[in-house]
Amino acid sequence: MNKNSSNIMALAPNTSNKRETVCIFGTGDFGRALGHKMIQCGYSVVYGSRSTQISNLIPKDAEVLGHAEAAQKAAIIIIAIQRQHYNFLTPLAETLHGKVLVDISNNLKLNQYPESNAEYLAQLLPGSKVVKAFNTVSAWALQSGTLDASRQVFVCGDDVEAKQMVMDIVRALSLTPLDKGSLSAAQEIENYPLQLFPMWNFPIILSLALTIFFFLYCLALDVIYPYIYENSNLSFFIAITIPNRVCPVMALILLALVYLPGIFAAIIQLYRGTKYSRFPNWLDKWMLCRKQLGLVALAFASLHAVFTLVTPLRAFVSWRTSNRIISQALNNETEPLDNTNAWLSDSYLALGVLGYFLFVLLGITSLPSVSNSVNWREFRFVQSKLGYLALVLCTAHTMVYGGTWFLNPAAYKWYLPDIYMLSLVVPCAILVVKFVLILPCVDKPLTRIRQGWERNPKNSE
Ligand code: NAP
Repeated sequence: MNKNSSNIMALAPNTSNKRETVCIFGTGDFGRALGHKMIQCGYSVVYGSRSTQISNLIPKDAEVLGHAEAAQKAAIIIIAIQRQHYNFLTPLAETLHGKVLVDISNNLKLNQYPESNAEYLAQLLPGSKVVKAFNTVSAWALQSGTLDASRQVFVCGDDVEAKQMVMDIVRALSLTPLDKGSLSAAQEIENYPLQLFPMWNFPIILSLALTIFFFLYCLALDVIYPYIYENSNLSFFIAITIPNRVCPVMALILLALVYLPGIFAAIIQLYRGTKYSRFPNWLDKWMLCRKQLGLVALAFASLHAVFTLVTPLRAFVSWRTSNRIISQALNNETEPLDNTNAWLSDSYLALGVLGYFLFVLLGITSLPSVSNSVNWREFRFVQSKLGYLALVLCTAHTMVYGGTWFLNPAAYKWYLPDIYMLSLVVPCAILVVKFVLILPCVDKPLTRIRQGWERNPKNSE
């Protein structure tokens, strides 16, 4: 098939719904699932198998032949066989000469072999045109039709025409081909299905480390300190009180950490006077996992909301309230409404509710299905402008919660500040620097740099 013919195929409507014959080597799980889908989409499928006996697992309209015989019937052969068996293909080199071989294989470990499976196949059969595709699609998803989350099919290969033919098949199966370039990209594509939440490593490890640190910090100040100095056993604080102190702190700090790399990037760009030099690696990596950091922060904020809602149900809270009422009754005291306090408490709650609402909005817009339906400006408006507003509201929520407590010596048990004060350090620093960055005298040069202007073009990399 030449370039023109594939163009004509793409433009001309396919009236017969019948497509070319495709050969699949291997009648295993993947071979059968792919064959089934291809037959549904109008392809004729011929299997190349070690056994030509038709079993009822094999799609009804498919033919099953020996490998050599099957290969002769199609220009494209999909190798649905594990890499360790590839050497059985060497005697078929002549039959497979000039054919397009689609390598769909995966490995059990990252970088298991020195070269990718597809490159290995190309070395075994130098006369064939090897294309890597379909390895990120599962047999189960193909068969059950649940491909919503994995419609993308990464394709790579050295022969442009062969790659085009495979991409046409991918499209015909209602999937989306993503051209990753030459066959040297195969190793990367083969590693995709083996990665375990690569973008989540840093956010999860960081959150775990900070959560443990803040939990122990609260345990020392809220449980151990009263036990030693006041002889009161508040160990039950471990269940709700301490988590409800740690969660908002984590939510605020992680939300701040979503915006901190942007601040660093702006400072670096201003300092270097150009946007054309690479950020340090750590900053690049940090920028790439901002979404995950934000989602972990949202999870902590949600936990904080739930813990707060269950607070009135706690035995400790009803005991404290009834004790106060009884003691007022016994002493014949009345407590007039403190208007300032009422204002502070309502403002604190309102700021928290609004901050949480924006937090949820940020989380929703980071979902691919939502972010794909807004344009870049809208996405930036939500993630940057509303994101900063969420940070301002949550920081204000924490500040109003603390009120003037920071002036009270009791807030410094063992000379350590209360946890809420620690949580304010990073967000306040970010908000102050951000305020400086949006001043016209700083914002103007920064905007110019981001539009491509360079202070000293010769020195840029
Ligand atoms: P499978 O169920 O074990 O099937 C492999 C097929 O290879 C067998 O049915 C057999 O077909 C053939 N075969 C086995 N030993 C052979 C040998 N010594 N010589 C020649 N042919 C041999 O495996 P699978 O799950 O279909 O996976 C096949 C390939 O697809 C693998 O490379 C896998 O990494 C890749 N893949 C699988 C999935 C998935 O969801 N399963 C997803 C993406 C990629 P015959 O009996 O017909 O000869």
